[in-house]
Amino acid sequence: MTITFLGTGTSQGIPVIGSDHPVCMSTDPRDKRLRVSVLISWDDYTYVIDCGPDFRQQMLTNQVRKIDGIVFTHEHADHTMGLDDIRPFFFKQGDIPIYAHERVLDSLRTRFAYIFSSENKYPGAPSVVENLLTDQPFTLGNLDVIPINVWHGKLQVYGFRFKDFAYLTDVKSVDETELEKLKGVKVLVVNALRKEEHHSHFNEEEALAFIEKIQPERAYLTHISHLYGFHEEIQAELPENVYIAYDNLQINL
Ligand SMILES: [Zn+2]
Repeated sequence: MTITFLGTGTSQGIPVIGSDHPVCMSTDPRDKRLRVSVLISWDDYTYVIDCGPDFRQQMLTNQVRKIDGIVFTHEHADHTMGLDDIRPFFFKQGDIPIYAHERVLDSLRTRFAYIFSSENKYPGAPSVVENLLTDQPFTLGNLDVIPINVWHGKLQVYGFRFKDFAYLTDVKSVDETELEKLKGVKVLVVNALRKEEHHSHFNEEEALAFIEKIQPERAYLTHISHLYGFHEEIQAELPENVYIAYDNLQINL
């Protein structure tokens, strides 16, 4: 299984438009962060988790030629607003499967009514196959995926476990009952927005405490704000098995 970090930035991305913050001005390519998303591939399967406003660029940069589906963590704009750009895949492959919580499907139906409506459909509009996610494991390709309920402030968000890999973005808290689903995971991705506290995201301290609790072999931090600091400086201070992810980083497991 190969995981590609398509984007590792928080909702505005880095650099932030119009910002002269030193991290936004950094020349280190690892300080340029598109909106969060990962590509997961194994055997002949390729899935994307979330489809934010940078989806088109992410597909081009990584030369993605087909996707078997898009799995959504939640409905916020930084995770959904690229949906129209599935068009090249739709033209080649036909209707694109999407997987989401009922609430998230509802939100997508409102925001992208022209994709979901069957009446008077514009010929160039893409179509999707809706797959409703519940708290039960579901199948992607030949793999069972475990959804994990986490809290993004007061909003329910899904994290996902693919065998020994788990991806939890936009998390502020996780109920004890859900922790069981992460037992034995080898590679864990969690959000760490910045050092200061935030109402709906782990800060660095909370992310590290969570990693300590789950005890994966290694962990990667994502959904990074420019306020967190320079990639190189953050990495130098992290525990040995914790890495700050960066755009286009690939890991194999
Ligand atoms: Zn987000």
